[in-house]
Amino acid sequence: MIVAMLETASEDQIQDVTDHLMRMGFAVHRTTGARQSVLAAVGKRIDFDIRDLEVLSGVEKVHRISAPYKLVGRQFHPHDSVIELGKGVMIGGPQVIVMAGPCSVESRDQLFKAAEQVAKAGAKVLRGGAFKPRSSPYTFQGLGLEGLKLLREAADAHGLLVISEVMEISQIDLMLPYVDIYQVGARNMQNFNLLRELGKVRKPVLMKRGIAATIEEMLLSAEYIMSGGNYDVVLCERGIRTFETYTRNTLDISAIPIVHKLSHLPITSDPSHGTGLRDKVSPMACASLAAGADALIIEVHPDPDHALSDGAQSLYPEQFAELMEKLRLIAPAVGRTI
Ligand code: PEP
Ligand code: MN
Repeated sequence: MIVAMLETASEDQIQDVTDHLMRMGFAVHRTTGARQSVLAAVGKRIDFDIRDLEVLSGVEKVHRISAPYKLVGRQFHPHDSVIELGKGVMIGGPQVIVMAGPCSVESRDQLFKAAEQVAKAGAKVLRGGAFKPRSSPYTFQGLGLEGLKLLREAADAHGLLVISEVMEISQIDLMLPYVDIYQVGARNMQNFNLLRELGKVRKPVLMKRGIAATIEEMLLSAEYIMSGGNYDVVLCERGIRTFETYTRNTLDISAIPIVHKLSHLPITSDPSHGTGLRDKVSPMACASLAAGADALIIEVHPDPDHALSDGAQSLYPEQFAELMEKLRLIAPAVGRTI
């Protein structure tokens, strides 16, 4: 950390700040310039808040150099993590993984149709919510255990893996036999108790960025899971809340290269929740692939006009098949396969 002292800082103030940093466990190197002194604090500690120093008398500005996370960051793990999702499907390597399916599991007929359609088009993972975090308590809340059973059956029938959202700790064990990947939804990205429990699980977790979360907060949330011992964490950009109203959320595609720079973990893009509008999903999926996404998660429904949730952002099966064709053209241009 670098602490720049005010030009007017007294020797006593500089000494106080130096003592403070040393009590925190840092070695302090002082540079005395013509006008200003700068303190470089070096050490292993990462659990500090720079504001604690910024409020000390005589301090002008504090810059953090080391990241506040260690397991998620590239510093101690420079190479990309390649994670096995199941049945030999790897995420984070050259192949871009497509996860697709309805927002919610609604019925056997709906899910089996969706599984067949997305598998035929080339998806590797079937998505579908059995427990739904709906903004209104009066809307469809999901089929629960019955939905999980349908997911497993439909996925197995079409050689797919299963991803489904876990909303609370009590669902972790219940879901274990039915899912290959636990999804942590945007609304739960800072449910730290849930994240800690998922740290004890030995199955991959796809953790979505919170609606109003910074990239650093997303990485710190992933650190919760990893610090519990589960290193199979996949991040997901799913759009953030901005002042724009044309789209449901603003898909922050720049988060993809930023995460790749800061972290070795794979990152997925969710253009469905990221835009909320069916006709914006394909362009943003293509853009995400070009920007370096390791996976895409896309809502596809056999009959979106009658979907019980997120119909407006769900692709028709034919649209999904067309999108997969486009992605197959783009992938080699950015050194990937689908
Ligand atoms: C979902 O995947 O259907 C979902 C609810 O996503 P998010 O948590 O990103 O809103
Ligand atoms: Mn949805």
